[in-house]
Amino acid sequence: MKVELNNIGKKYEGREDFTLRNINLDIEDKEFCVILGPSGCGKTTLLRMVAGLNSITEGDLLFDGIRVNKVAPKDRDIAMVFQSYALYPHMTVYDNMAFSLSMRKERKKVIHDRVMEAAEVLQIKDYLYSKPSDISGGQRQRVALGRAMVRKPSVFLMDEPLSNLDAKLREHMRVELVRLHKTLGTTSIYVTHDQTEAMTMATKIVLMNGGKIQQAGKPEEFYNRPNNIFVAKFIGSPTMNMIKGKMINGMFVSDDEAIKLRPIEEDLEFLNPYENKAVTVGLRPERFINGEGLTDTFECIIDVIEMLGKEKILYTKTKTGKDIIISTPGHYEYNEGEHHRFGFDLSAIHFFDSETQNRIN
Ligand code: ATP
Repeated sequence: MKVELNNIGKKYEGREDFTLRNINLDIEDKEFCVILGPSGCGKTTLLRMVAGLNSITEGDLLFDGIRVNKVAPKDRDIAMVFQSYALYPHMTVYDNMAFSLSMRKERKKVIHDRVMEAAEVLQIKDYLYSKPSDISGGQRQRVALGRAMVRKPSVFLMDEPLSNLDAKLREHMRVELVRLHKTLGTTSIYVTHDQTEAMTMATKIVLMNGGKIQQAGKPEEFYNRPNNIFVAKFIGSPTMNMIKGKMINGMFVSDDEAIKLRPIEEDLEFLNPYENKAVTVGLRPERFINGEGLTDTFECIIDVIEMLGKEKILYTKTKTGKDIIISTPGHYEYNEGEHHRFGFDLSAIHFFDSETQNRIN
């Protein structure tokens, strides 16, 4: 099912300002859309409006082209999975999964078939007759998914469903959710503040901040072409380095003059109007290169090294004390206190207008 949000706004009663405003978003049939953003940006509010649990102050919500603003949650053909699984503790796993179908007075045979089918896909057949308190957090989360699945909804809505799990299990469940989505093909809307979940699971990411959509698109677009400085800093780990400076005779020169970078031809076209104007460059930590034998390099002193195994993160400072984070393969030899010259892959520079914060190139 296709979900469309046209100029959606939300103002909570008793609040002066709109929590969300002018939200325009198309979520295509079979898409796995991740709503991403920092705490308080309005993600849950948006999801609850789609679910029908929050009223819509302005705009239109369409399911397959039909306006559903006033349709009751139970009539929206959606299923929601929450962070706090919300399983019934006194019921078995089987009964938890069967509950909504029993309430709908489905035939026993239909209920049984659906529960067994979901249990098979989610690999929870072995503990169908256990109580939620007797199974692990990851298993409980699968039961919560199973309970949503048996209803065969047209849309899955998920609000931080993995945030109560430990890191290893979260990683595992991410892959399981992607597999599940491939198998079922159900349109899904998934809320999280975790960029890794968004990058690994989404077919479309919607990054929000301050009640507005900052960028919507494919994960690689977020990494390769962030719209503005907020998006650029939100996606990628370690965070993209941001350096303020000016364009002088077609060169980028940082405010402290410690860093000079020569843009490639394609970027220069966009940078022409910025001669002598304030520009911020974004440099991903993984795109620095060893500066030996190169021109346009800059000197850094390595302050702290974080060894992560496959990668080594160098927390460095330029001569003028500006912090630069550089990521290198784990087997490269670097030591704290050393001075090194670094260059940068010039085809990978992100240029932003310092005033509007928007992307230039
Ligand atoms: P988090 O990741 O912390 O859950 P979020 O991005 O999901 O954050 P929301 O929960 O949608 O954000 O909240 C957005 C804003 O709306 C917040 O300022 C919050 O205080 C406010 N808000 C949420 N629910 C209500 C409510 N029922 N009444 C009034 N204000 C609310």
